[in-house]
Amino acid sequence: MNEHTLSARLERVAAQVPEGARLADIGSDHGYLPVALMRRGVIVAAVAGEVALTPMLSAERNVRENGFESLIIVRLANGLEAIQPEDCITAISLCGMGGETIRDILDEGKVRLNGKERLILQPNGGEQPLRQWLMENGYRLVHEEVLRENRFDYEIIVAERVGPVMYSDQELYFGPLQMQARSPAFLLKWQRRLRQKQKTLTHLARARQSLPEEKLQDLVRKIQWITDLLAT
Ligand code: SAM
Repeated sequence: MNEHTLSARLERVAAQVPEGARLADIGSDHGYLPVALMRRGVIVAAVAGEVALTPMLSAERNVRENGFESLIIVRLANGLEAIQPEDCITAISLCGMGGETIRDILDEGKVRLNGKERLILQPNGGEQPLRQWLMENGYRLVHEEVLRENRFDYEIIVAERVGPVMYSDQELYFGPLQMQARSPAFLLKWQRRLRQKQKTLTHLARARQSLPEEKLQDLVRKIQWITDLLAT
C-alpha cells in the first residue's frame, strides 16, 4: 500500500469521501488516504492529524514528495485537536483504530465538531459502542459496509448529524443498514462470529470454567441474536 495504491479497506473508505471535501484524516499515519484523494482530485484541502511523531514525519514526507504542502496540513495533535475552525472541514475520517478509541476521540473532541461534517469511520472492532455514541449524539448512519481483507473483517460506518435518531440494541450491534442489506460479506462475518462464540460456550462448559454470570448471559444472548439474524 502507498499513496498510489490504497489497501482495499482504505479504498472503500476513500469511496465515501464526497467530491470537493475538506478532509480531516485523524490518525493518518503515513497520510496515504489524504494524499491519494488529493492526487485523484477528490478533495480540495486536508488536515492529516497524528498523535505520534514517527508517523507524523512519514505523513509530512509523503505530502512533500507529492508537492501538496499548500493543500494538506500535517499536524502533530491528539484526536480532533488537529482541526482548527479556519480549516472549514467537511469530512472527518478515523480509520484503523478500535471502535472505543474512535468513540473517545469523537467524544473528547466534540467541541471541535460543527455538526456538518460527514464522519467516515473504520473501526477495528468495537462497532457497537461506536454506533451507540453516534446515536446518542444525533448521528444517523448513512452508509455501512463489511469487507474482508487479510483474513480480517473490517466495517466502514458513515454518519451524518441530523438530529435525534433511535436504533434498537440489535441494530447497534449488527448495524441497521447492514441488517437490511445483508451483503454476502456481512453474512459471512456473522457466520464466523457465531462459530467462534459457540466454540467459546462449549469450551467454557467442558472446562467447567466459571464466567461471571453477566458475561455468560451476554454470550448466550449474542449467540441467540446472531442465530436469529442468520435464520431470517
Ligand atoms: N488511518 C490509517 C489507516 O487506516 O491505515 C492508520 C491506522 S494506524 C493503525 C492508527 C494510527 O492512529 C497510528 O498512526 C496512531 O499513532 C494514530 N492515533 C492513535 N490515537 C490517536 C489520537 N488520539 N490522535 C491522533 N492519532 C492517533
